[in-house]
Amino acid sequence: MQIEFAKIEDKVLKGNFAISEERVIQNEYESFTINNVDVSFRAYRIDVNDVSIKEKINGEITLTCTSCLEKYREKINLTSETIFTKNKSFLGGEVTLTESELDVQYLEGETIDLKEEAIKTIDLYIPISHTCKEDCKGLCPICGANRNINPCNCKIEKVDPRLQKLKEFLNKE
Ligand SMILES: [Zn+2]
Ligand SMILES: [Zn+2]
Repeated sequence: MQIEFAKIEDKVLKGNFAISEERVIQNEYESFTINNVDVSFRAYRIDVNDVSIKEKINGEITLTCTSCLEKYREKINLTSETIFTKNKSFLGGEVTLTESELDVQYLEGETIDLKEEAIKTIDLYIPISHTCKEDCKGLCPICGANRNINPCNCKIEKVDPRLQKLKEFLNKE
């Protein structure tokens, strides 16, 4: 879903679109899937160089638990507002943004990708550490079992590193 910068007028332009079954790669190790999300947007012109895009994002995504590595679904209900500017000095410190939630972006091309914006908002919403449930027990560091499903009997003992050396020595004997 793209919108042309030049075609955005003073009068608010409204619309909506859906994103479904889309996998988003966040980095080398992490990704998430957008199962089904509805995006409704409002676009209007502030002045010659600046337009505002507001988005409401509603739906469901699938995340991988950072503790037990199982996938789980999460409902999302997010809003974002971005000012797209053609005026480079807007970003050069002439304007002090006190509202930290307001995002200002310099627009390189002539079109704004509304879908990309929504995906970016979802990506930023996901905290670095996110778990399938509040009390996720994670994986056993010894046998690797998912301790939510399979409480293993591994004994996680804290051994003094000096004693560990002695233990290894005695085991050799
Ligand atoms: Zn988990
Ligand atoms: Zn175990």
